[in-house]
Amino acid sequence: MDIDTVLADLGLAPGDLQAGALTVRSPIDGSVLARLAPHSAQGIDAALARAQAAFLRWRDMPAPRRGELVRLFGEELRANKTVLGRLVSMESGKILAEGEGEVQEMIDICDFAVGLSRQLHGLTIASERPGHRMMETWHPLGVVGVVSAFNFPVAVWAWNAALALVCGDALVWKPSDKTPLCALACRALFLRACARFGEVPEGLLEVVIGGREAAENLADDRRIALLSATGSCAMGRALAPRVAARLGRSLLELGGNNAIVVAPSADPDLAVRAILFSAVGTAGQRCTSARRLIVHASLRETLLVRLRKAYDSVRIGDPLDPETLMGPLIGRDAFDAMQAALAAARGEGGSVSGGERVLAERWPDAWYVRPALVDMPAQTDTVCRETFAPILYVLGYTELDQAIALHNAVPQGLSSAIFTNELREAERFLSAAGSDCGIVNVNIGTSGAEIGGAFGGEKDTGGGRESGSDAWRAYMRRATNTINYSTELPLAQGIRFGD
Ligand code: NAD
Repeated sequence: MDIDTVLADLGLAPGDLQAGALTVRSPIDGSVLARLAPHSAQGIDAALARAQAAFLRWRDMPAPRRGELVRLFGEELRANKTVLGRLVSMESGKILAEGEGEVQEMIDICDFAVGLSRQLHGLTIASERPGHRMMETWHPLGVVGVVSAFNFPVAVWAWNAALALVCGDALVWKPSDKTPLCALACRALFLRACARFGEVPEGLLEVVIGGREAAENLADDRRIALLSATGSCAMGRALAPRVAARLGRSLLELGGNNAIVVAPSADPDLAVRAILFSAVGTAGQRCTSARRLIVHASLRETLLVRLRKAYDSVRIGDPLDPETLMGPLIGRDAFDAMQAALAAARGEGGSVSGGERVLAERWPDAWYVRPALVDMPAQTDTVCRETFAPILYVLGYTELDQAIALHNAVPQGLSSAIFTNELREAERFLSAAGSDCGIVNVNIGTSGAEIGGAFGGEKDTGGGRESGSDAWRAYMRRATNTINYSTELPLAQGIRFGD
């Protein structure tokens, strides 16, 4: 199935996508997929105005009815899972199973949001005054701006969108300029759901094409009630102060530097499989990819031998081939960053296996690499940085508290895991004195979270939470209501005023 057929199946006219200045290339072979016209500042302004008008109507729709639209969108996703998953692979380079997995994640969050649409509940709180009642109500927030990264071109948007829509918000989505076709395809499927639903205000989902300036426009605009931004820590440092300058709200999902601790009692088979998927899956281009392995000194050599063997067996190649386990890097910049990190790690005493470019003769304009394992003498500056590529730094430890200290001594705080069969070790890692991450796992890897839990991380990862649990609250505003059903007017704290 070629790109034109994929786009046409998803309701996009390939001929309309060839006239603009933004060239979209497939990381699979460097071929041009589309040339899109980026939005001008005026175009973004108009999109925001439409979204704001849509919000004013959508917020009045009962939440369970809003859930019905999300249910219909989930149906469109189910019907188009294969083709949308293929587009995800073509545009982001992840293997087909992971492309389709992303669409499944969208379907799952739609299901979650449909249920949620009947459970947007607040508290009733005891009032200190006689004849009074206090309660909390949750109201739609406004227009939610979503800035998304290339590596999860559809799922992360859906985590935001499904919740925001049932919460009564409108959406303006600025996808990565590397994966805008996925966004246009999602919008086309969403419009199909809207047509079936019937009474959706125009502008409920706007897609804005562009790069950094487009994101800045959203950050600076007061009509964006919440900016949900996913990407690198550098992006968060650039955008968050702009939102803060207008005292707006932001929800940040930034970089990770995730580690797996392997304790002496670990099941080695489980550990090797989990490390391989976490470090090599999606070519190391997940925010939750394992980047550090903190392994007990007694296991270090044997685990490294097993991992090198497992790494050698990874089939690298065309992500559209079902036999492939690892596709390309997103582009040349990612390759250069990987090589620079490996050179720096060597300079810091690291011993590198893998990491070299492969398949260059077949695809001179694409960037395939062997995943790298780097045995490090210490947790150096290079290890403390997130390099968005398949590099796993291996560090040793002797006492668990030393492993936890190493684990926490990086700026990022997204995902973490321990492999152990010792209850005390597992519980210590999960405790207040354990991992400082937003995601802390036992005997599973760092990547591949389920939508039912809140997703996000601490420290430089930005502190935001999306997806399941009570993450929906970020997409609503809370009102505290006090109702006096007595004939008196008692003041709180017993204050007497003019009586
Ligand atoms: P990126 O930061 O380059 O781009 C992300 C988005 O921000 C894009 O839409 C881009 O156009 C925009 N952007 C980039 N720099 C900007 C700037 N200075 N000002 C305004 N907008 C800017 O990230 P990427 O390469 O697309 O994705 C990889 C990064 O995203 C990694 O750091 C990864 O860990 C992170 N990520 C985090 C999560 C999470 O949930 N925590 C999920 C996916 C990816």
